[in-house]
Order: sequence, then C-alpha cells, then structure tokens
Amino acid sequence: FSTSAAIDEPINPSIQIDHTQLLINGQFIDAASGYNSVLPCMIIFVTIELIHDDFLALGKTFPTLDPRTGDVIARVAEGDAEDINRAVAAARKAFDEGPWPKMTAYERSRIMFRFADLLEKHTEEVATLETWDNGKPFEQAAKIEIPMVVRMFRYYAGWADKIHGLTVPADGQHHVQTLHEPYGVAGLIIPWNFPLLLYSWKVGPALACGNTVVLKTAEQTPLSALYVSKLFHESGLPPGVLNVVSGFGPTAGASLSSHMDVNKLSFTGSTATGKVVLGLAANSNLKPVTLELGGKSPFIVCEDGDIDKAVELAHSALFFNQGQCCCAGSRTLVHESVYDEFVEKAKARALKRVVGDPFKTGIEQGPQIDNEQFQKILKYIRSGIESGATLETGGEQLGSKGYYIQPTVFSNVQDDMLIAREEIFGPVQSISKFKDLNEAVQKANASSYGLAAGVFTQNLETANTLTRALRVGTVWINCYDIFDAAVPFGGFKMSGQGREKGIYGLSSYLQIKAVVTPLKNS
Ligand code: NAD
Repeated sequence: FSTSAAIDEPINPSIQIDHTQLLINGQFIDAASGYNSVLPCMIIFVTIELIHDDFLALGKTFPTLDPRTGDVIARVAEGDAEDINRAVAAARKAFDEGPWPKMTAYERSRIMFRFADLLEKHTEEVATLETWDNGKPFEQAAKIEIPMVVRMFRYYAGWADKIHGLTVPADGQHHVQTLHEPYGVAGLIIPWNFPLLLYSWKVGPALACGNTVVLKTAEQTPLSALYVSKLFHESGLPPGVLNVVSGFGPTAGASLSSHMDVNKLSFTGSTATGKVVLGLAANSNLKPVTLELGGKSPFIVCEDGDIDKAVELAHSALFFNQGQCCCAGSRTLVHESVYDEFVEKAKARALKRVVGDPFKTGIEQGPQIDNEQFQKILKYIRSGIESGATLETGGEQLGSKGYYIQPTVFSNVQDDMLIAREEIFGPVQSISKFKDLNEAVQKANASSYGLAAGVFTQNLETANTLTRALRVGTVWINCYDIFDAAVPFGGFKMSGQGREKGIYGLSSYLQIKAVVTPLKNS
C-alpha cells in the first residue's frame, strides 16, 4: 500500500474549536445534567462548590476523538432527555408563536440562500473540522462534500417559495383545495459517516417546508454541525428554529424519538437502530418516520465492458469514504468469463490505494471512525478468512496509531458467508462470480437490504433487464455514487422507508390538508 504519507506523525489542524455546547434557542448552553459519575463527582462537587460558585453551571460532557490517533479533540456537551425537552420546547415555540412558519416563504428562502453563501465562504474551516472529527480526506471534504452541502441548501432554498397544493375537481357543488403544511417540530437523527452532508439532506428540506428542528448529531462527530448552525444563525435564522443537541443514542436519540411534542422524525443510521426508533415513534405519539438505513449493495460487472474501467469503478464504489458508505458497493459480482482478470486487477488497484493522514494531499483513504468500528471490521476480515474466502491483499491494521486498515480484497466469496451478508462498513471488497444474468439477479437480490446497485455493461438490453429486476432504491449504470441534490435517495426492503433529496424529499416534511368550501352559501 502506498503509505508515503506517514500515518504515525499526524499533522496538527490549524483551527480552534469554538463551539462545543448545545445550541438551543439560538444560544450555546451547557447540558442540563451534571456530572459523569455520581459518587466521585459529589465529592468533587462539594469541594469545588465551596470555592467556585460557577461550578454548578458546568454540564455533563463527553470527548470527541481524532480517528488518526484516538486522542481527544474536545469535550462536548452531552445532551440527554432534559436537554431534548428544552430543545423541543424552543422548537415548539418557534413553530407555534415564533416567526418561522409565519414568515413568507420567500423570506425563509433568502435566509437559506444567505446561509449557503456563508457556508461556502467557510469551506476550509468546515472541511477541517469534518476531517479532524471523522478522519475523511480533507480534499474530499473540501472539494466534494462541503460543495454538495452548499448545493443542497441552495436547492431547498429554491423550493421554499414553490411549495403549494392543488385544486381538486371534486364531484358536487364544492370548491376543494389542498394545503401542503409543515408538520411542526421535526426531530432529525444523523450518523457519523457524512456528518454535514446528512445534516443538509434533513435540515434543508425540513426548514424549506417551514418546520422547526431539533437535530441530534452522532456522538462520534458532533463538531461540524455546531459550527455551521452558528453560521445559519448569523444568516438571519430566528432563535429556536434549529436546535442542535450533541449526545448519545440511547439517551438523547431515544428521548427525541419518543417525544410527545415532536411531530415528525427522520433517522439515518443502522437498520438495528432504525427498528428501535420506529418502535419509539409508534409507541409515543405515532409520529411519521423517515428511515435511511444500512445496505449491502451489489456492483455487477458483466462480461462486455472495459475491464480496467470496471475495476476502477468497483474499487471506488467500495473504498470511498474508507468503505463507510451506506450505499457502498460491498458485493462485487463478476461474470465468470472475466473473473480471474478482474480479481488480479482489483488486487493491484487496492495495493496502489494511498492511505495516510487525511490532512495530507493526495490521500485516498484515512482512518476508520473509531476503535469500535476498527475492531468490528478486523473481526469481519477474520471471519472471511475462517469461512474460506481467499484473502487477496490487506487484512491488517496499518501503522501503529489510530484506526487505519489496509485496503482489503477477498475473492471466492460465497453468498452464505458473513462478509457477503452483513454490512462491514470498512475497506473490505468481497468479490464473487456469476455465470449468467439470472444468477446475477438472484445473487444481487439475495439480501435483506435494498439500498443501491451498480451495473457495468455496454449492452442496453442487459442494463434494462437488470435495472427492472433489482430490488433497490438506486441503480447506477456505468457509474457509482453519483449524488445530486435533485435526485431521490432511499432504500427498498430493510434499507429504509421514504426518500430524501429532490422533490420526493420535500414530501417527508409536509402534510396535506384538504379544504372544502361550498360554491354557494345556501
Ligand atoms: P447507528 O444506528 O448506531 O447511529 C446512528 C444515529 O442514531 C446516531 O446519532 C446515534 O447516536 C443514534 N442512535 C443510536 N441508538 C439510538 C437509539 N436507541 N435511539 C435513537 N437514536 C439512536 O449507526 P452508525 O453506526 O452511527 O452509522 C452507520 C449506519 O448508518 C450504517 O448502517 C449505514 O449504512 C447507515 N447509513 C445510512 C445512510 C442512508 O442514507 N441510507 C446514510 C449513511 C449511513
């Protein structure tokens, strides 16, 4: 592997962390709850309280870590149920009494456009935070992701004043129209793999439709959302419209999901947590839920294409973002006639992958997000070896610090192996063989997930046949990971419910009211 960018001497990011508190009602504030452990803290508390009155004001915090080293970047306020209550109350007030849904749609749109402009100006700082907290290559964050976030906000800012209902040609002497109205308070829960991108997929449409928001960030990556939400307020966003609570899933996340005053929930994360969240929503106030969950997406290489291009596409489909993509092309299915050549070339490509400190230039792969994911991926690699797949390359930690993993390629992967069935969420490519299109379809659909698929072929009929047969939310033909603000994204089967992005993403944040008026007064 190309490890020229030494991974044991991390570059120091030149940025100060300014925002680590919760953002509630337009103010950065400490968490409501106190100390991390009751008994020792009581002793410290009483002692310090005697000498320092302000100590009472200090809330609970948790560390956010640098994936390059495992070192603490900053301690961040740890919100829990009480903070969620405070944030929901602020969002409720901003919705019921405050200016947001009462502003003209044009005014809301202008604030969102201003925010997009300000965010664009701060691309470098925001990308630095994202790389530091998440480990993704800085160049990728600065050149691809933050521009996509800016574009997403402009896209939905453009929609804010174009949302309207219909007139309905009902039978009888009545005039019937529909109003498309915001739900009220939207609870948004996001994961750590694309912290700001997924922030934009949810906050953008929720606000454009006139909802107010309580956002729960992932505990691994709380920093960038706080920073940009401050910029949002500087752009004219009224207090209470967008509240950000950092914290953990079973506390802050669960409180938000089961809150009786949250009217809509949108969750992105694992399928297992998605089921929990859906249950919490159902057992509280039956709030509608959008779910963007996990995947095990097939990338199908037919026999008729340029093999080098197929290798490159399949490589990036899996390895992009350290393999931590919900839609990663994590099952590479290759026609038997080109299989051996494909495997050789896929191995050679993985060996060339440039892994290193994500702040250095030319880096393709940084560290995994944290020790838990790192250990989980290594365990899947061991399981692949034990179950008889052929380890072509990789399989181990890279360097001695942080959570770097060698780009790993398995061939001879069988459908019943764990590495073929479960989401690894790491830089592990699993290649298997198919003999004809029927078998490709059968293998591709043999998953409880249905998020995305890639098809590589020059044959239009093959492309059409596969596209119709695949039970997935997105099919990329001769491309992969092409995302656009206007294009819907979401899963079939256990990969989710509902769609985000584009015009389809708006409907998740709107409810329909039918209004019926007699044509005559008599
Ligand atoms: P996760 O489910 O563990 O966590 C996601 C979020 O849910 C975090 O904010 C977490 O704090 C919160 N959470 C955890 N337990 C909770 C609970 N009991 N109640 C409420 N909230 C809770 O997922 P993860 O490991 O952080 O993220 C990776 C997963 O996200 C992968 O499965 C990936 O495929 C999926 N993902 C899906 C998409 C998509 O669009 N379909 C996009 C990105 C990631």
